Amino acid sequence: MDYSELARVYENLGKTTKRLEKRDILAELFRNAGKDLKDVVYLAQGKVFPLWDERKIGFSSRLMIKALNQATGITGNEIEKLLNKYGDLGKVAEDLVARKKQHTLMSSTLTVDKIFSNIRKLATMEGQGTVNRKTQLVSELITNATKDEVRYIVGLVLEELRVGVSDGIVRDALAQAFNVDANEIEVAHDTIGDYGEVAIMARDGKLHELKLEAGRAMKVMLAILVKDVKEGLETVGKPAEIEQKYDGFRAELHKKKGKISLFTRRMEEVTHQFPEVVEYVKENVKGDDFILDSEIVGYEKKTGNYLPFQKISQRIRRKYNIEEIAEKFPVEVNVFDCMLYDGKTMLEKDFAERRKLLEKVVKQKEKKIVLAKNLISDNEKEILKFYKEALKAGHEGVMFKNLHAKYRPGRYVGYMAKLKEVLDTLDLVIVAAEWGHGKRAKSLSSYIVACKTEDGDLVEIGKVSTGVKEKDAEVTFETITDELKPLITAEKGNVVELKPKIIIEVAFEEIQKSPTYTSGMALRFPRVIRFRLDKGLDDVSTLDDAERIYNAQRGRQTAF
Ligand code: AMP
Repeated sequence: MDYSELARVYENLGKTTKRLEKRDILAELFRNAGKDLKDVVYLAQGKVFPLWDERKIGFSSRLMIKALNQATGITGNEIEKLLNKYGDLGKVAEDLVARKKQHTLMSSTLTVDKIFSNIRKLATMEGQGTVNRKTQLVSELITNATKDEVRYIVGLVLEELRVGVSDGIVRDALAQAFNVDANEIEVAHDTIGDYGEVAIMARDGKLHELKLEAGRAMKVMLAILVKDVKEGLETVGKPAEIEQKYDGFRAELHKKKGKISLFTRRMEEVTHQFPEVVEYVKENVKGDDFILDSEIVGYEKKTGNYLPFQKISQRIRRKYNIEEIAEKFPVEVNVFDCMLYDGKTMLEKDFAERRKLLEKVVKQKEKKIVLAKNLISDNEKEILKFYKEALKAGHEGVMFKNLHAKYRPGRYVGYMAKLKEVLDTLDLVIVAAEWGHGKRAKSLSSYIVACKTEDGDLVEIGKVSTGVKEKDAEVTFETITDELKPLITAEKGNVVELKPKIIIEVAFEEIQKSPTYTSGMALRFPRVIRFRLDKGLDDVSTLDDAERIYNAQRGRQTAF
């Protein structure tokens, strides 16, 4: 497929905000994509890799200026001037290519295949000597692009192409294109988290052949936030299984043919980072060919006390000196569910049955691998006591689980609920920030945060700076500035716009309706709780979450 067709699709998507129109545009694209279907599906969301793929393109704005210089002969200085004028390298590229191409009759020869082959090469090249080669790959694409295509190529390479196409729209477009049930598409996507693969199966009529497979990450079940014990029981029915809610990170434990692998809830593989967990699973879980669900939580070596997530969060991204850091920050695996056992799906079994299986196959070893501590009850008082004990033991709260629920990836009412000490927190992504004054002049000191709409568009909901520490903490003005600086896309006065990437958990006293922000709501007295570097844009709280809290504010009682 010619890339020009995709550029036309991006153009048309940009002209509408209507969900159904977007769906129709994409359905036609998918139908015509032929052998490029898989890649075209990724491109439809402005990406080149599926959700779970850890690879990054890693091409900076500075390198892009160099590539533009190589492709057009315009000097770096002039390009910078244009960048100040347009505030966006994509538009700069469009301008440059338009000027150049007036004098030639060249038209695009770019195919989707070529774009993918060059961009994917960027992600696999590492090290100093590769810079020139990388720039060449991009400048080759720019040289061959028309003025209408180049903007989107630059956006793709810089990983900042925003096309406003949510998962739901891709799902509906695939259903329409290949005449299959949208629900079937969703189930398949929940299972393998890769719309590219799902598209091929939908087209070839093979969706029903899809199976859970150990060794391949899947999407996990998520919980609904409740405000007290009563609402927890109402949400999942009674009696319910109540479990301690550990403040760690979600981990899928896979074993196939003796090989263990670990994945985060974002489907990123972290096997290498947790060698001791691999051992715990190997030694203490009976059987082969399984997928278990768990929370990995850190504890203090000396006292055995549990630690909040941010203390161990650095282990997730660590690539070197693994043994050393594992020694310093030990973890315990709390197993709480089972999606596959003996190669057979467990998704359709009752939760109570899945738990029973865990009790049979996991040999519990304190501070290594245990089952989530639980209580089966319909008694509010008893549950409240369990909840308080959980908090006292350093945990975040409790989970409520419906004893008869099947395992369903995603978030569904009636399956699983969470009760935490602080009700009012949202996971929000920072989209803009302001430079501070005086002693904070070198720091970004206040942050505009956004949640997302059902369609995945980001809408602003507040500005926060309270809660950030001066020093000696995880979230200081310095650490947050370090995370944000590489993401600056434009700067005006003391305000910078940012590529939306860094997610923070924000607490607040109340949500109000307000015209100040694009969400139509505003947080009152917001404060930063912590980074959520384990979460991605897919995990950002939704407008619906904010609405729920807004509605719950009336007649709220505390959990006690
Ligand atoms: P939150 O991160 O606040 O959305 O809360 C949901 C998360 O709590 C899940 O995704 C798990 O990572 C974590 N969690 C901790 N303990 C449990 C448990 N016993 N059962 C299920 N999830 C748990």
